[in-house]
Amino acid sequence: MKSRAALRWFWFLVVIALAGVHLALVAAAVSQAQTSAGPPRIEWIDVHVHVIGGRAPRQDYDGAVNAALAVMDEAGITKMLIMPPPQVHTQPSPYDYESFVKPLKRQAKRFAFLGGGGSLNVILHAVGDGSQVTDRLRRRFEDQAMEILRQGARGFGEIAAHHLSHLSGHPYESIAADHPLLLLLADIAARNDAVIDFHFDLVAEDTKAPEWLAVPPNPAVLRANLASFERLLGHSRKARVVWAHAGSDMLGYWTTALSRRFLERHTSLYMSLRVGPGRAPQNHPLTKANEIKRDWLSLLQDFPDRFVIGGDQFIASPLIQGGGPGMIFAQRAANIRERTSTFLAALPVDLARKIGRENAVRLYKLEN
Ligand SMILES: [Zn+2]
Repeated sequence: MKSRAALRWFWFLVVIALAGVHLALVAAAVSQAQTSAGPPRIEWIDVHVHVIGGRAPRQDYDGAVNAALAVMDEAGITKMLIMPPPQVHTQPSPYDYESFVKPLKRQAKRFAFLGGGGSLNVILHAVGDGSQVTDRLRRRFEDQAMEILRQGARGFGEIAAHHLSHLSGHPYESIAADHPLLLLLADIAARNDAVIDFHFDLVAEDTKAPEWLAVPPNPAVLRANLASFERLLGHSRKARVVWAHAGSDMLGYWTTALSRRFLERHTSLYMSLRVGPGRAPQNHPLTKANEIKRDWLSLLQDFPDRFVIGGDQFIASPLIQGGGPGMIFAQRAANIRERTSTFLAALPVDLARKIGRENAVRLYKLEN
């Protein structure tokens, strides 16, 4: 009797065990089906993002930062560097990092920031000609820069020496890239191990403004500015300059050959990739079939530590209305996220990891 009862127990346990194995196999199959449904998701860090929260008293940067968090979770973006766009004194009430720093600090694992786009950049372009830079102005500029770093910024951005106007209300900005205040900023960045996010629409030779640029505010002739940029980069070997918007060049001069030459010559130069539509398709990294172009792949492979992703996404609070340039750019952000994922998925895995995340962590001293 005893042994028959034991046998019954034995078979009972066997059935339970088999059912368990079966369930585990089904669960594994389901999860595999889920992961194989889309392309493998590659996580990335966006080092060049603008948030739009409006101006006081109708200001909502909490909402803009929450909107950023929502798209990050959806798109696999682990962190963002937020910065004010490069503004000038002729625009209504420029804003800087103070507007958005509080909500960012509440999410310190997901965000870091740069400052100066609404203060240092305004001073730079208000002065214009470098001959007007007095000692007093240099001190004011330096005090402002140091205050930005004291508040926790990883550096200065978005700073522009040459910025084309693409829409009404979008400023044309132009000063010499080796302006004395920019050289000073490079010294400050070098001394404090900070980064400069630099917008610079490159002009290799004097060029008549193409017909898609409105004249004014853009000038009828765009003046060559390459040499002044090299002087800025050569000024301090320690100042880390991140040249923004690689891969979506507007004028056609920022070729892979030029990038190679610059990266070889200037060892503290980095480039942030904006894999969006630009005006000079020959300089995009992706083919129409979404493969990495050969010259781009060899550039990225030869300088794997010098590229990061800077999507130039504009993300607005849902409470903000209106049709200014920022809101128009905000409509393009989803497309930029999608193209960036496509770009990273097309890269060899180790390169995607570096460009997508690891370089940004190192460059901006982020927590992993
Ligand atoms: Zn820019």
